[in-house]
Amino acid sequence: MKVSATKTILLCLLAATHLHAYRVVFDPGHGGRDLIPYTLYGDKFDRRLGTYLDKFREGARHKGVWEFEVMYDIAAKAKAILDLTQTPEGKEKFRKILAKYGKSTETPASIDAYLSRPAGYIENYFENRDDTNAPFRLYDYPNQKTGAIEHGTISRINALEPELVITLHLTHTEAPAVGGMATVITPSYKTYALAQRYVKGGDRAAIRKKLASSAWARWFISDERYKTFPSFMADAFIYYIGFWSKSDGVNTDYKRFRGYRHNLVDWAYADSDAIVESLYGQKGERYATTLAAFEPKGPFWEREKAEPEIWRREGGNEGFGGDNHYAGMEVLRYARKAFVVNGFDSAASAPKILKPYISTWAVPTYVNAVAAFVELAHTTSKRDYLRMAKYRHIYAEGLAVAAYSLLYGLEQRSSKYFPKGAALDLARYENLAGGNYFKRVKK
Ligand SMILES: [Zn+2]
Repeated sequence: MKVSATKTILLCLLAATHLHAYRVVFDPGHGGRDLIPYTLYGDKFDRRLGTYLDKFREGARHKGVWEFEVMYDIAAKAKAILDLTQTPEGKEKFRKILAKYGKSTETPASIDAYLSRPAGYIENYFENRDDTNAPFRLYDYPNQKTGAIEHGTISRINALEPELVITLHLTHTEAPAVGGMATVITPSYKTYALAQRYVKGGDRAAIRKKLASSAWARWFISDERYKTFPSFMADAFIYYIGFWSKSDGVNTDYKRFRGYRHNLVDWAYADSDAIVESLYGQKGERYATTLAAFEPKGPFWEREKAEPEIWRREGGNEGFGGDNHYAGMEVLRYARKAFVVNGFDSAASAPKILKPYISTWAVPTYVNAVAAFVELAHTTSKRDYLRMAKYRHIYAEGLAVAAYSLLYGLEQRSSKYFPKGAALDLARYENLAGGNYFKRVKK
């Protein structure tokens, strides 16, 4: 897409005067360790219950490639490339990088780039040895010495009020020999509403069929005892009422509580513990303990039903998954292109983009930014393994260019295998009645 000259000039002026440079947060997954007992060292701290509800997810390890370390390294290198946009000399260097990927003649605008976490636990082991996972948790957590609630990664991202967040993971599930990549996406309230209809006695066969014939059909199975549709139902239960469903997909499993996740982060849409206590278990309320009795009331559920969340999570350029899906796909397409323009791959040997992972993922749900969430590589592929081990700077370049393209657009010469180059329609979020959606996420 061609950005209009007026818009380009306006953006340059804004960037130059530092009134409003777009913000991107690179969010490398993991960082800490799965320590025992998780009730003391885990993640997903529930203030009401005074305990962690989940183990710390330490991520993939494969023959010396550690996900938390590689993803941080790539993220830090990508940030360094975008930091070039902070000076005139740097902008000239960055313009030359952009020119490898698309038609770039004008001076690039500035982008403020951030990392969502420090390097992994090994780096500051002694400073953090009483609570190794402190800087790496996704959700807010109590300071072990003072008891004060500290920001986890999701709250740190929201405190920056970014327009774009790029979450980076890798996986060691099966992949093609050339390597594999995939986006990680989550639907909106609109899709989860199928689950509510299901428990409230809708035509169950028709609802199962509707999901199975939709773009969301390949639901992620996180518990092997649950088939695909019950996995969707279990995630819908977690999304709505914080509990798993049983494998029948209808009844609450009271032994598996996963928290009211929107209250475990510090942002504009959380309810206080007092509200949770006063409404807990009530039928027709937001803290009902069965999905049939649940009613979406309060600021978080108003947000979930509103238009910006449809834009972020449904429909859009990829046909489904909204701006989040498009942003994730562009990140992957630019990462592939990076290996081609830098001579490591041809279009045929570049990693394949596989089907997305679909579930009720936390980062794309609990931020207002457009959330590109990707599995960048599969370490089971020898070629991906080599890319991870030795060519991180190439991924980083692809990610930096992707961020720029998503925020400002980068016209492509050919889009046959590669990025579309169209900028996100950020204006619709920015000009929303009630104020800029990206800048109203903080409490
Ligand atoms: Zn991961």
